[in-house]
Amino acid sequence: MGAVAVLAATGFAVTANGQQDFSKVTIETQDLGGGVYMMTGAGGNLGVSVGENGVLLIDDQYAPLSDKIAAAISALSDKGVTYLFNTHHHGDHTGGNENFGNGGAIIVAHDNVRRRLSADQVDARGNDVLALPDAAWPVITYSDKTTFYYNGQEVNAHHTPAAHTDGDVIIHFKQADVIHMGDTFFNNMYPFIDVSAGGGIDGVIDAHNLALSLAGPNTKIIPGHGPLATVADLIATRDLIASARDAIKPMVDAGKSAEEIVAAKPLDALNLPWPTDGFITPDIFAQLVATSLSN
Ligand SMILES: [Zn+2]
Repeated sequence: MGAVAVLAATGFAVTANGQQDFSKVTIETQDLGGGVYMMTGAGGNLGVSVGENGVLLIDDQYAPLSDKIAAAISALSDKGVTYLFNTHHHGDHTGGNENFGNGGAIIVAHDNVRRRLSADQVDARGNDVLALPDAAWPVITYSDKTTFYYNGQEVNAHHTPAAHTDGDVIIHFKQADVIHMGDTFFNNMYPFIDVSAGGGIDGVIDAHNLALSLAGPNTKIIPGHGPLATVADLIATRDLIASARDAIKPMVDAGKSAEEIVAAKPLDALNLPWPTDGFITPDIFAQLVATSLSN
């Protein structure tokens, strides 16, 4: 999700010159057990593992929030952030990379996250996004999967191809029974699929199924955006997204353009239970699904 999405999701203030006002943002911490925590502020949901080895942080929201995030972590541990995982390259998940990287964190992410953060990009709305300074780049990358043995946890990071982007990862804390899904899962809102950055609807469904294959009945699921979720929430979301795909795929196969498909309102009959006034409206979602299936 990009900046506009965050504004829609959180409703928080924008200053007169269009900059987001982070001064009112507070970082909230939820204890998920096993030394694993979810934190929320503005931007993508954070995951934190603390214990005898140190601190592993998943995502870092926006640069102006780095001090608040570090303060929230210091309430859990007297150690600094040793490892910082990026679930994907979007700025509401990597905006603090430079600060934490300069603070000594070792940044870990998929090959495509480093590739995108280290070069100028054009985002899904056609805006230029400049390369980040090299302190913000991942220094350990992987193509498929990597495992940490850390704080008494086996932490498996599984790349999910062509999902929200081309660099997504699902991070599974085996002993704590927690999965962080990054933006492959939006809880209680229309999902954003960044087709311009290699995402696709089939990969999003695959990511849900991969997480479900890793999960047990009581697994706590951290979505990229939205509240902490259960396995039942993830199954329900997977089924709704699949129903949207199945409504649109025959139209793509029949040769209709994305514009024709959006105009036909293919999602209306599904009564998807998500707010329709967010950054991702039903029409935008239909367009992203149609575009990804046309590629
Ligand atoms: Zn995102």
